[in-house]
Amino acid sequence: MRKLIKNATIYKSSMDSILIEDGRILEVFQGDKNLENIDEVIDVKGAFVLPGFIDSHLHTLNLGYYLSNVSLIGITSLKRLLEIVKEKIAQVKEGKWFYARGFNESIFEEPKLPTKQMLDEISKDIPIVLSRACGHMMVVNSKVLELCGVTDDEEKDGGRIDYENGFAYEYALEDIKAHMPSPTREDLILYLQEAMHYLNQFGITGVGSDDFISVTENWELPLDVFLQQSYQHKMSIRMNEQCEFHTLEEFAKFLDEGYTTGVGNEIFQVGPLKMIVDGSLGARTAYLSKPYEDAKETRGMLCYSEEEFARFVELASNYNMPTISHAIGDGAVDVVLDTYEEYMLENNPLGYGLVHCQIMRRDQIDRILKHKLYCYIQSLFINGDAVFYEKRVGDTARTSYPFASLYRGTTTGNGSDAPVEIPDVLKGIYLAVTRKSIDFDAMMDASECLTIEEAIDSYTVNAAKLIGREEDLGKIQEGYLADLVVLDKDLTKIEPKEILDTKVVLTLFDGEVVYQA
Ligand SMILES: [Zn+2]
Repeated sequence: MRKLIKNATIYKSSMDSILIEDGRILEVFQGDKNLENIDEVIDVKGAFVLPGFIDSHLHTLNLGYYLSNVSLIGITSLKRLLEIVKEKIAQVKEGKWFYARGFNESIFEEPKLPTKQMLDEISKDIPIVLSRACGHMMVVNSKVLELCGVTDDEEKDGGRIDYENGFAYEYALEDIKAHMPSPTREDLILYLQEAMHYLNQFGITGVGSDDFISVTENWELPLDVFLQQSYQHKMSIRMNEQCEFHTLEEFAKFLDEGYTTGVGNEIFQVGPLKMIVDGSLGARTAYLSKPYEDAKETRGMLCYSEEEFARFVELASNYNMPTISHAIGDGAVDVVLDTYEEYMLENNPLGYGLVHCQIMRRDQIDRILKHKLYCYIQSLFINGDAVFYEKRVGDTARTSYPFASLYRGTTTGNGSDAPVEIPDVLKGIYLAVTRKSIDFDAMMDASECLTIEEAIDSYTVNAAKLIGREEDLGKIQEGYLADLVVLDKDLTKIEPKEILDTKVVLTLFDGEVVYQA
């Protein structure tokens, strides 16, 4: 199968045509050539062609789960909300629960909450859960309370249930979630497919993805689904799995069965060990080296003791598996750097990394650059965090989100952490280049802005390196895989604000069109 893309404005190239054979780039050349045996010609009429975008850190299955849930976001009346539940509940399969998320009664015409009685009128047999937009409250029907063994008001462990109205708050939500049926193989395939179609719309053809314990309790089923779907060529993104585990025993079992970094195929590969070391800045759970400026009683929290964390990193290093760590606060970054220095080799040949790279001090930036740690940044976070990060971390704000410093000193790739953020690459590029919030009147230090080429490379060639694919992804070059994105504007020739009006016209994966506007 030979395919020709012609009349292209190719990123970082003076050529205008790309010849693809069996999913790989055979030749990049200029002008009319007498080519024989071409099965298909795609004339992109001068459009901008780049390597397919790579999102270096997100949660594919979690994104698919989120997309496949019924959304109640933006509904402005209780009547409409109940109509939607009535409509959609017909699609619930035997043995499953009805789950919908995102309602917000404060934007209803009349701010009245749905109740257990209202949901019981829709169904007394199918468990119904409606999750409030904030994620801290749910309304459920009688069936849910019955299955959870709740027979009266309850108050325990920082959670509360109002039996009469079917309201559940805070920790009680975990109890309810624990009773929901766990996803089956078919569910995981559906989440994967939904997420991939969605990602292709943003021009994404590759991801570093953290999935093992996001929608399931364990790594076995997701891993099996990824391997099966990739061997059967049913995927439209390449995936490097960032392997997360609940316990050291589970991780040891994974290694015992022969899995380690690099195992897989051209589409799916096992990536690094992924650790979550602290919480988030939004919830003030990111672990700082000193108290929060706007909440002096807390420094946030560590998810592991330093010893526990070191045991994971050590075990991984015994199997030549690098570790990448979610560390948002500078206190957590200290723990990560101290531990990495014990186990990683000089110049970081395996690719140990730091995910998020938000709150950090100058001495830490220097250490990261010295060791050539891989940095997984999310410029999309600037949009919301610019509003409050200074109030929260005080002086450390001056050296925080140091994307240009990291980019210019070590391998730095971009991503969305979806479903935390919508994986909109063009928005991410805009925020990396401007550091100006789109939705709020706020910005971050302009000296850390990336150039447009750096921002594009953070989603292509650099992200390819972070997901272990610098040899065959992230460039439009002979021998590279034909994962490509076509945009309606040349990003290198427009004003930053026009980046937000730029559209993905076409996404190609393995030489095949997987999205067309
Ligand atoms: Zn994440």
